[in-house]
Amino acid sequence: MAASFPQPRRSDGGLDDPAPLRLVTYPQFPNQNAPDVNASDKNGLQWLTTQILFHYQRCPRRAFLDHYGDRQLKVAPSDYLEKLKQDSADHRQQILADYYPLHRPRYLAQDWLAGSAATVALMAKGVNYISQGVLTAETAAHITLVSTPDLLIRVPGDSIWGDWQYVPADIKFGKKPKLDYQLVAAFHALVVRNVQGSWPETSWLILREGKSYAVDLQKQLPRLDDLLYACMEDLQNEAPPEVFIAHSRCDLCNWFSHCHSEARATQHLSLLPGVTLARYNHLRKLNLTTVAALAAANPAKLSTLPGFGESVAEKMVHQAQAVLGDRAIPRLTKQLPQRFPLSAEQLPSAPIELYFDSDAAP
Ligand code: SF4
Repeated sequence: MAASFPQPRRSDGGLDDPAPLRLVTYPQFPNQNAPDVNASDKNGLQWLTTQILFHYQRCPRRAFLDHYGDRQLKVAPSDYLEKLKQDSADHRQQILADYYPLHRPRYLAQDWLAGSAATVALMAKGVNYISQGVLTAETAAHITLVSTPDLLIRVPGDSIWGDWQYVPADIKFGKKPKLDYQLVAAFHALVVRNVQGSWPETSWLILREGKSYAVDLQKQLPRLDDLLYACMEDLQNEAPPEVFIAHSRCDLCNWFSHCHSEARATQHLSLLPGVTLARYNHLRKLNLTTVAALAAANPAKLSTLPGFGESVAEKMVHQAQAVLGDRAIPRLTKQLPQRFPLSAEQLPSAPIELYFDSDAAP
């Protein structure tokens, strides 16, 4: 059966080369200006894989822990996460069934060089569809990019092998082309370009219900460049990125228990209701990174920060004071929190009204 989607199209050479990316050295167009980060030998970051990049976007700390963390601190995926993974795998298989004949390169798991050699051999042969392929590209930082697109589709066009080339596609269980999907798709296109010598005209996302989305590479490649740069820098550090508990992303993470313990031990501000990552970044610029500092802050001053407002600022400072005093403090109507330090006598004993601003919660 012929593939129903995406339909192969003639590529006239893909997009023009964008501004040189900082860290990627193209075989045909070496980027002389790429900075030499050159720290990979020190701490073992040799391969920057699709999965690392995907997780880095959601949480830089997660990418770091996945790479260097003590696996014994990880917890097993929840039933809910297992179900999601299974649904996603079923969806992928369902889509791939439309692509025939489908070729799979043979290699041992994690043996990226063998995987890359086997994949390039299939591409050079000109097979129509390749799944579970591996493609690699060297960077000026001596870290190898490892792209593992769900599908490589042969289309008419130019490449080092002749008048055909490949367009990458990722199959996602989500309904929308989220930005993190798009940046990973751009990552595939970048590595494909390095291997075949010309840009694919796009990189596809095949979404739930068979919807397809062609990623705008001109738009996403500069973002990808920034992302790769930041990711390589962060993963070369000795210490993991700062913990930040945001339930929307942490609840399904295998490192949650480890991170939450650390956040509790350090009384991290992300545990306070209303301290979202965006707000925390503003607090950080004011050096308000501890409960004590926030408890002593002036709510009126905080209220002018983007995304705060009077009510949020007041509640946040109030909450910090409650945590610092290790007791709930009643909120008095229309009264701004007192500035810390409060003496023991100043701390009221009753009534207690703890609040939780659900709209402002991470
Ligand atoms: S629990 Fe949260 S902070 Fe920790 S690694 Fe996972 S997503 Fe990141």
